[in-house]
Amino acid sequence: MPGWIDTHCHLDAPEFARDIAAVRARAAEAGVRACVIPAIGVDGFARARALARRLGDAYALGIHPMYVAQAPDDGLERLDAALAESAHDPHLVAVGEIGLDLFVPELISGALRERQEWLLRGQLRLARRHGLPVLLHVRRSVDAVLRALREVGAVGGIAHAFSGSRQQADQLLDLGFRLGFGGAVTFERATRLRALARALPAHAIVMETDAPDIPPQWLYATARERAAGRPQGRNEPGELPRIGAVIAALRGVSPEDWAATTRANSCAVLPRLAALIGFGAEK
Ligand code: ZN
Repeated sequence: MPGWIDTHCHLDAPEFARDIAAVRARAAEAGVRACVIPAIGVDGFARARALARRLGDAYALGIHPMYVAQAPDDGLERLDAALAESAHDPHLVAVGEIGLDLFVPELISGALRERQEWLLRGQLRLARRHGLPVLLHVRRSVDAVLRALREVGAVGGIAHAFSGSRQQADQLLDLGFRLGFGGAVTFERATRLRALARALPAHAIVMETDAPDIPPQWLYATARERAAGRPQGRNEPGELPRIGAVIAALRGVSPEDWAATTRANSCAVLPRLAALIGFGAEK
C-alpha cells in the first residue's frame, strides 16, 4: 500500500482533542499512511502512546526543549523507565521530540540554556542505550545540536522542520540524519528553503506537517488577517500530500514518486516504523 508518512505530527495536542477521529480519517482519505506522534514531556508519554496505538500510528517519547522549565528533575530517569516499558511496543519508533531552541529569548542563555543542553545530551545517551533514532528540534540551533551529537556519538534520526544552510544539512546527513520538510516550503518567499528542497539529494528528505503548527501557505492567516479576527489556520496531517506535491513540483518528479521516495527514507531512518507498516513486504 503506497501513501505518505507524516514523520512529525502532534496529534496529541489539545487543538485536536475535539475531532481527532475526523482529522485522522481525513488524513487517511488524502493518502497519509502513518503519522509519528512525538511527545513533548513526561506528562504526555501515556497519552502519545495510547493515541498512537488507538490510531495504528507511531509515537516517540522525549522532553521538548521548549518545555525544559516544566520538566521534572527526574525527567531523564522517567524517560529511561518509559522507554524500557515500551521496548517491545511496535508503535514506539524514536526518542523525541528533543533538541535545542535558540529562538525563544528566555531559553538562549542562563539556567534554561544549560538545562536544554543537559536534557539534550541525557536524552541522546538514552536513545543510544535503547537503540532508537531521535527526532530533533533544531530551531536556530543546528551548530549547537551538531556539537552535542558529536559529543555523545551519532544516533541517527530526523532533524525536524529543518531550515539551516546546505553546509549544515550536509553535516547532519553525514551523521546519519534526514531532514524534515513541511509547510514552510509552500511559501513562495521561502526562497532559500525552496532552493534546498530542490537541490538536496533525494535520500535526504522526509515529509512532515508538525500539525497543528506550521500551516502551509493556503491555511496561513497573515498578521493583518488575524488582527481582523481570522484565527490562525490549524495545520493537520491531511495537508501533507499537498505539501509533498509542492516539493515534488520543485524537484520535477511526480507526487507519487515523491511519496514513495520519502516513505522509503522515513522507513530507512525509523526502522521500527518500517516494521509497523510492513514496509518492504509491500508491492
Ligand atoms: Zn514538534
